[in-house]
Amino acid sequence: MGETTFAERLKAAMAARGLKQADLVRMAREQGVKLGKSQLSQYLSGKTAPRRDMLAFLSSALGSNLELEPESQASQPVQASVQEAPMRTFNKSSKLDHVSYDVRGPVLDEAMRMEENGVHILKLNIGNPAPFGFRTPDEVVQDMASQLTDTEGYSDSKGLFSARKAIMQYDQLKGIPGVQMSDIYTGNGVSELINLTMQAMVDNGDEILVPSPDYPLWTACVTLAGGKAVHYICDEQAGWIPDVADIRKKVTPATKAIVVINPNNPTGALYPREVLQEIVEVAREHQLIILADEIYDRLVMDGEEHVSIASLAPDLFCITMNGLSKSHMIAGWRIGWMSISGNKRLGKGLIEGINMMSNMRLCSNVPAQSIVQTALGGYQSVKSYVVPTGRVCQQRDFVYKRLSEMDGVSVVKPKAAFYIFPKLDPKKFNIHDDDQFALDLLQDQKVLIVPGKGFNWETPGYFRIVYLPRRAVLGEALDKLEEFLRYYRQ
Ligand code: PLP
Repeated sequence: MGETTFAERLKAAMAARGLKQADLVRMAREQGVKLGKSQLSQYLSGKTAPRRDMLAFLSSALGSNLELEPESQASQPVQASVQEAPMRTFNKSSKLDHVSYDVRGPVLDEAMRMEENGVHILKLNIGNPAPFGFRTPDEVVQDMASQLTDTEGYSDSKGLFSARKAIMQYDQLKGIPGVQMSDIYTGNGVSELINLTMQAMVDNGDEILVPSPDYPLWTACVTLAGGKAVHYICDEQAGWIPDVADIRKKVTPATKAIVVINPNNPTGALYPREVLQEIVEVAREHQLIILADEIYDRLVMDGEEHVSIASLAPDLFCITMNGLSKSHMIAGWRIGWMSISGNKRLGKGLIEGINMMSNMRLCSNVPAQSIVQTALGGYQSVKSYVVPTGRVCQQRDFVYKRLSEMDGVSVVKPKAAFYIFPKLDPKKFNIHDDDQFALDLLQDQKVLIVPGKGFNWETPGYFRIVYLPRRAVLGEALDKLEEFLRYYRQ
């Protein structure tokens, strides 16, 4: 061995054979030996010594009896086993690289960290009615309890007969044409069905028109399925109604479907029949599928009427999604559904794909399916929330008034759901980073909102407030927001 170190002998043996690091790594791979480039660099720099099996490989590959120095041999079993093999780590799949769902993103992470440290946060961020004292009707709870032991098994993958019958009748009331029992699929919330449908429908490179701002799960699921979400603008000046001219501009030969979220999250807009009619015309002209997300259709205020877009498109292939998370305040029970309507022959192959996806997940939560009939029939407690004396309506009025009176804030009055999407004057506040605004508000005032960027809305300076908390809590949060806006500039 003489005076040389192992590293020097290894270097010399490689040079003698004219081998580079990459050559040795390749030879190792061919022989089924795990040797990474960084691992080899460590041997060459003398930072670590190989284990016996690796030493044997290097010796045979280099045709040289490489031996370790006595001291490294002595320390080798303990050290080498810890240091030698680079630690294998695991990343998210690259499929998720361009997927974002920031409603539960970094700002919420910070809020949770603060809460863990004992800070009380006023949360205006999530559209989850139950924690704010909105209770599902007793009858629904009782019916779930009494059917629990009958709902232990899987159901038909599309859902229980009783649930689908009730959904079919609901669709009939909404004027959605031609929905048969076999056209209805229950899901673990609309969320599951959005993902399921996008997986069944979207090929790489397909374009799906999605509103901006949107409920971001749509964009996320289009992207995850390999498609491209092309955002059409909802026009703030027109009360956040879709800009049909912009929709037309964005249709290309790759466009397959258009998503219409009505009533809308995050703006609370309710679309007039004429606008829906215009969207249907664009879809008709370009032979697009209509995907309607109508989960807030029973949370409409000011005596307005919700129109299902599928009712205006009996000749097109439409999928309408709805559920009980919001109208029956049971977001945690996970029950939603979708109904295929209109010209179903156009989507025969797609229906096969949807059936396959539906079968693959076996069925949706059966106890929750068992109360669909009770929930959709009979007394609708949600109606009492949205009349002028109801909690949702009063909280909407209160939040709208307070925000309208704040210096540098402008806001469109929502007509439905329980969200409001205010704008901060760009000249006054100079907001260029929505996330930063939300973080600063959180850290300074302990108020949690969702930044506009989280809804695929590009212009900075917007944010969403959920006005489900009771008025006193909303008042406290709005006082803090007002105070913050007195001094905050970006
Ligand atoms: N669609 C919209 C527009 C939503 O706002 C939400 C939830 O906030 C969902 C779908 C998901 O609803 P579900 O609880 O049925 O999964």
